[in-house]
Amino acid sequence: MQLIHKCHKTVKKAGILLSLTAIFFQGCQVKPENSAKAESADSSPLNVIFMIGDGMATGQVTTMFYYKEEPSVFEQFKEIGFINTSSSSNKVTDSAAAGTAFATGQKSFNRGLGLSPDSLPVPTILTILQAKGYQTGLVSIGSITHATPASFYAKVTDRDMEESIAEQLLEADLDFFAGGGLDFFNKRKDGQDLYQSLVGQGYQMDSVGMSRVTDTSRKYGYLLAPNGLPAKHKGRDSFLKEATEQALAKLSASDSGFFLMVEGSYIDWAGHARDKEFMLAEMLDFEEALAVALKYVDTHENTLLIVTGDHETGGMSVGKGAQIDQVDLYFNTDQHTADLVPVFAIGRAADSFKGFYQNSDIFHKILKAAGIQNDKIELVK
Ligand SMILES: [Zn+2]
Repeated sequence: MQLIHKCHKTVKKAGILLSLTAIFFQGCQVKPENSAKAESADSSPLNVIFMIGDGMATGQVTTMFYYKEEPSVFEQFKEIGFINTSSSSNKVTDSAAAGTAFATGQKSFNRGLGLSPDSLPVPTILTILQAKGYQTGLVSIGSITHATPASFYAKVTDRDMEESIAEQLLEADLDFFAGGGLDFFNKRKDGQDLYQSLVGQGYQMDSVGMSRVTDTSRKYGYLLAPNGLPAKHKGRDSFLKEATEQALAKLSASDSGFFLMVEGSYIDWAGHARDKEFMLAEMLDFEEALAVALKYVDTHENTLLIVTGDHETGGMSVGKGAQIDQVDLYFNTDQHTADLVPVFAIGRAADSFKGFYQNSDIFHKILKAAGIQNDKIELVK
């Protein structure tokens, strides 16, 4: 206890505006000598893999139990909860408000990113964890400036301000990002070439394809399409799986903990399009990336994997098919719905994701799992 007390004193003197407990976890970690427990799952920094199926709720996940020969990887989860996805402005959220709830721990208005309901900037989980030394990464099939990934680093009143969002990516200090959206960086109305700016910041950039992470001391950025990547049933390769693998290769090289968000972006688009083939292709693709994450958790006990959706799209269900032994997909809208969304968790602190709660609670549960008292955080940034 003496050591804890001393640490608190030091923090007070330094005048750092972070919670005492958080500092304790980062700077004053006590490691018992000669004990295998010293490096146990509970004392080592947390790795977080947060996978978001955009527009994915129970109906979409159910397809993986009926349209595959082999068992769904979702069967591996034992800790399952449900979230209410409503935003501060609408019962039925959009991806911007839902992403903001995940990223900031508070519900806000539809279309806004990283702002409180009264439009004030709110710290995101990325900046909070970065202040603790965590590495951070974002992967999306859509543009990296699109609502879901952007909610983790941008602060704008409207999600369509993608050129402004691209500028804010330069301030985000990510260690790895992969997605589309090249045009928002190098074909801009203001003539700036932000792609070159990222190169100037030391990023190993690629606009052609996923290359292997070979130098983990570098930061990696992939902008692989003018806007979003192609849909899976229109020829997208195994981008999501490969980007997840490369992100983990890069982020896990550091032993300071990491936060990786991976978005299966077009499950939502398939719901809007009420397109069965599109839906199944995107869900299968998401499962492939999920299998990579599950394998990682299996061998890294200090890792927490959370899989959820930001909202449901399409009012989709798996119903009767033409034959007695068949099923078919049905959509009752081309819009988002207010359906409850399942949350699947595995790994360290996974049991805290059981039960019913709000989408914004995921942020608080992650920080708690990381040992950070988020209610006392005031970032100067
Ligand atoms: Zn949508």
